Amino acid sequence: MTAPLFPLFADLQGRQVLVVGGGAVAERKTEALLHTRARVRVVAPTLTPALAGLRAAGRIEWLQAVFAPGQLDDAWLVIAATGDPTVNRAVAAAAEARRMLANVVDDAALSSFQVPAIVERGPLQVAVSSGGGAPMLARHLRRQLETLLDDSWTSLAELFTRERQRIRQRFPRPAERRRFFEKVLAGPLPRLFRQQLHAQAEHHFLASLDEAAPQPRTGSVAVVGAGPGDAGLLTLNALRAMNEADVVLHDRLVSEDVLRLGRRDATYIEVGKSASGHSTRQDDIHRLMLEHARAGHRVVRLKGGDPFVFGRGGEELEFLRTHGIPYEVVPGITAAVACAAYAGIPLTHRDHAQSVKLVTAHCKDSFDTLDWQSLAQERQTLAVYMGVAGLEGLRDRLIAHGRAASTPFALVENGSRREQRVLNGTLADLPETARSHQVRSPALLILGEVAALAGTLHWFGAPPVGATAPTHSRNLPAPTLQAA
Ligand code: SAH
Repeated sequence: MTAPLFPLFADLQGRQVLVVGGGAVAERKTEALLHTRARVRVVAPTLTPALAGLRAAGRIEWLQAVFAPGQLDDAWLVIAATGDPTVNRAVAAAAEARRMLANVVDDAALSSFQVPAIVERGPLQVAVSSGGGAPMLARHLRRQLETLLDDSWTSLAELFTRERQRIRQRFPRPAERRRFFEKVLAGPLPRLFRQQLHAQAEHHFLASLDEAAPQPRTGSVAVVGAGPGDAGLLTLNALRAMNEADVVLHDRLVSEDVLRLGRRDATYIEVGKSASGHSTRQDDIHRLMLEHARAGHRVVRLKGGDPFVFGRGGEELEFLRTHGIPYEVVPGITAAVACAAYAGIPLTHRDHAQSVKLVTAHCKDSFDTLDWQSLAQERQTLAVYMGVAGLEGLRDRLIAHGRAASTPFALVENGSRREQRVLNGTLADLPETARSHQVRSPALLILGEVAALAGTLHWFGAPPVGATAPTHSRNLPAPTLQAA
């Protein structure tokens, strides 16, 4: 068993580091070293074009030679990146003899220091190392951390670095200082940076420095789009908001798969609204948001699809603004976009549709407010939300206003989910088809010439039922990637 490594962040600015080797690996190491403003000297018989470019620009020094121990004399560190085991061993031995730290790329046994995988947010660096034993695992973790830390960390680290003196003067005792940071980080500061409100963030920070008494924590609401169901369609911002939430107020439409990714110890409250069955009134949703935000909680208002597409997100924002509750909005993939993609239907297509309309038509009243003349036009795609109950009226009006009875449609039920079903047909038979297949909510109607393409372009789940075009794509060989 090898001993644990001592983690170390070295200040290499202006200090010379020797890189042995002039190939692609040496190039990567050289770039990483230049980032730290080290003085890099490369020893190698030849250089890659990029290294040659750095040399021509005067950013590195080149010793056109093979490795010799004397070259270590002026250096603080050495990195052997030659891919030649004999040379690498010679570098390691020469460094050891001089009590100098050496890294041999991809050779933990020969190395006396390891270079970790790094996540950087301004002055903040997170280094991950497996001690050279499992570099892939370290890189994997690095990528996960990369998605976890949004850009507000950069601003926070810069601000705290800039104000270090002032913070120390104000809170000389470490325990006080820790409490101050905890308070500031739990408050609105990270959110203000995420919102790119830098002046406000700074102002808030200075105000909290001056305050004697700790102020009550102010809560906030993130109105977040959860997408159509497939958890893979969440954005990183949505995931981060869910990870920070104290309270999640979610619609019924939000899938289990998505909810599973949220913070475990958060409080989850279903505020589902459905045309039938139990529902929470919009006023109650507003009241819950207000109550929890005022109690200092970070609230996530999680909505199916996108919050601003038939999601009443606008009303919720107006309410929050009226009551002085800070908010942010995270868009989500709306049902029309997701259902089209998962059914193999391009919403626009050069040959078939030059525009898309997102429409909702869930009751008779909403029917009368629609501009049927324009909805009935050709060469456009209609994506109709919440349309299952009113399909008959929809068909009759569209045909009455001139849309061809032969216009293709696709009904996508449970789009992007395991249970996804796609029905194809023509406008003339739309309500009958939906009825005979017992289409249930959530379902989205895509109407227009493009809908027929589902017959050939489908790729997810079962092929569409009732497709007019041949569904031969199942028998095609898997597509191959063409080299450019
Ligand atoms: N804000 C949501 C829409 C809310 S309205 C969004 O942007 O997607 C609810 C309607 O959206 C449903 O009645 C249905 O028509 C549609 N819908 C939402 N998710 C769906 C899914 N996974 N599959 C099919 N339709 C869906």
